[in-house]
Amino acid sequence: MSSSNFKVKVINEEKGKGLFASRAFKDGDTILTEKPLVCCQFSWNLEYGYLACDNCLRPLETAEENVHRLTENSTIILPHPECCETKKELIVECPDCATKYCSIECQNEAYSRYHSTLCFRTREKDESHPLVQLNETWKQMHYPPESGTIMLPARMVAIVNQADNKEEVLSTFSQFCHCAVNEVHEIAHKLLEEKFIGQIDVLRETMQKALDTKLTSNWFTPDGFRSLLALIGTNGQGIGTSAFSVWVKNVSALDLPREERIFVDKLIDRIYSEMDEAVGVFLNNEGSGLYALQSAINHSCVPNAIVEFPFSNNVLVLKAIRNIQPEEEICISYLDECDQERSRHSRQKALRSLYLFVCRCDKCLSQAGDPDLTSEDEFDDDMSS
Ligand SMILES: [Zn+2]
Ligand SMILES: [Zn+2]
Ligand SMILES: [Zn+2]
Repeated sequence: MSSSNFKVKVINEEKGKGLFASRAFKDGDTILTEKPLVCCQFSWNLEYGYLACDNCLRPLETAEENVHRLTENSTIILPHPECCETKKELIVECPDCATKYCSIECQNEAYSRYHSTLCFRTREKDESHPLVQLNETWKQMHYPPESGTIMLPARMVAIVNQADNKEEVLSTFSQFCHCAVNEVHEIAHKLLEEKFIGQIDVLRETMQKALDTKLTSNWFTPDGFRSLLALIGTNGQGIGTSAFSVWVKNVSALDLPREERIFVDKLIDRIYSEMDEAVGVFLNNEGSGLYALQSAINHSCVPNAIVEFPFSNNVLVLKAIRNIQPEEEICISYLDECDQERSRHSRQKALRSLYLFVCRCDKCLSQAGDPDLTSEDEFDDDMSS
């Protein structure tokens, strides 16, 4: 895969592929924009009423409705409603099962790619439906904060079954399954609580009952299924959307008189603290997706690019965060901001346990001689794990 902006190259056996710049980029430039091959909202997130398009995760509530739900306070009024981007008049639902979409385009795309297979064909929740049972089995094994959902591989099976060119789709998906068997066991442990590891076969059998898996039979051997779980654990890119945060971004960009600016800023602070009391950290519609190009990007503790979701849906944008030279490797950080600032020892521990690799980026190599513990904070971190 390549374009005038970038190319995907094999680096070596150990690191595998990487993404490289084909031209110079300046800080802030867009390197690529990408739609996922497949994405899915997390199961508990959906269950708890986080309203998003089933196809692209775009918020389906207005910013004000979003605030009312997350603060449990329906008296809050948001000024400048024009800063809310939710277009409720475009929302459509599947006539058979009432699944909601942000637009007729998303509904049509979903139906032709996977939804005709996954449609419940009923507007009432039917507990005996095999797909409902699959989702329930998953939910009992994987509680919030969520990092994956069994409905993502279910969607992958449906995409293969509905595809015109099944071989091509199978080979696209198979590029994500490249872990060694011992690694796969470790990752499955990260995704599921210890006590559920023995029940992976239950999940596998439930999935085989719910879907026609003839074409994807090698995903459903005991080892193949662990690889599939590992795939959603390591390659799934988190996607978060929120009608309120879009409103905040737009209202912050307005040129307001000083008095009004102070009022709006205070209101935003108050809303966030009320949300914190009511729902804690669970603010966004959340899900994950598989991206062909993004999955080829390696980690660095001193990244030169970041992933953003500026359109409030599942469309990913890779942006340069410093100047990049032609032929330079483009790297993102797999760690969150807080982990990025920690010592080499702490960073490597996090990367090893979540992504199973030893980081050899410039920062890690230059700090290779540093002592293992550098602050009390990190000492605590080591004690608790
Ligand atoms: Zn949509
Ligand atoms: Zn349906
Ligand atoms: Zn590093």
